[in-house]
Amino acid sequence: CGIVGYIGPRPAAEVLLEGLRKLEYRGYDSAGIAAVWEGELHCIRAKGKLHNLQEKLDKLHLPARIGIGHTRWATHGKPEEYNAHPHRDASGRLAVVQNGIIENYRELRENLKAKGYLFTSDTDTEVIPHLIADFLKISAPNTNSHHHGLLDAVRQAVQHLQGAFAIAVVSADFPDELIVARQQAPLVLGFGEGEFFCASDTPALVPYTRAVLPLENGEIACLSPTGAEIYDFSGQRLRKTPRTLNWNP
Ligand code: GLU
Repeated sequence: CGIVGYIGPRPAAEVLLEGLRKLEYRGYDSAGIAAVWEGELHCIRAKGKLHNLQEKLDKLHLPARIGIGHTRWATHGKPEEYNAHPHRDASGRLAVVQNGIIENYRELRENLKAKGYLFTSDTDTEVIPHLIADFLKISAPNTNSHHHGLLDAVRQAVQHLQGAFAIAVVSADFPDELIVARQQAPLVLGFGEGEFFCASDTPALVPYTRAVLPLENGEIACLSPTGAEIYDFSGQRLRKTPRTLNWNP
């Protein structure tokens, strides 16, 4: 029900947890984060309150500088840890958080299962990491530009999704890219100095920046420490500038 994402010089886990706290008002039954550090993806999830997630994170002292976080309001699958987001692909190196509902998940799931992808949750969301992994695999042999591999794979994957969704994606194989996309569910980008944020709603961004840009339906963005690039789902680059948020706490 709530998404946050961060890339930049700060300890990502702290930024994500703080952002999730600001989104608690939206309601949730479980929470989790995924962060990339030293070539590995770390995924930590917990049922219940954010405090449970915090306890797990405190033990890890994860110094990652890129990550995604989620508070879940279950629509498909029980509120249990194995259904909590982030959801990973089979390699465990790619993670996705999602708000909303993927209407055609059954069909996608059957197709992916037939291709040999194994599912570990009951969620509609889990088709997304497998779909992205599948597109990464297809494009890998003939791409020379490793740089746009993840962005293109996510862009292809979202074109197959029906329903309402906002997603954020990280991968240990693309440690400098945070990919976000939206269709009928809110997602706002936050712009800082050498750092970028995303969140379901502005209260999660306000402690860090007032320069915000709401993503529109059918838009996908690649956030890296050097900039934010925004495209439509067909791959057309869009030129957009953030606006300044007036905020009187
Ligand atoms: N439909 C997804 C699930 O049940 C996401 C729910 C949400 O927006 O939190 O896991």
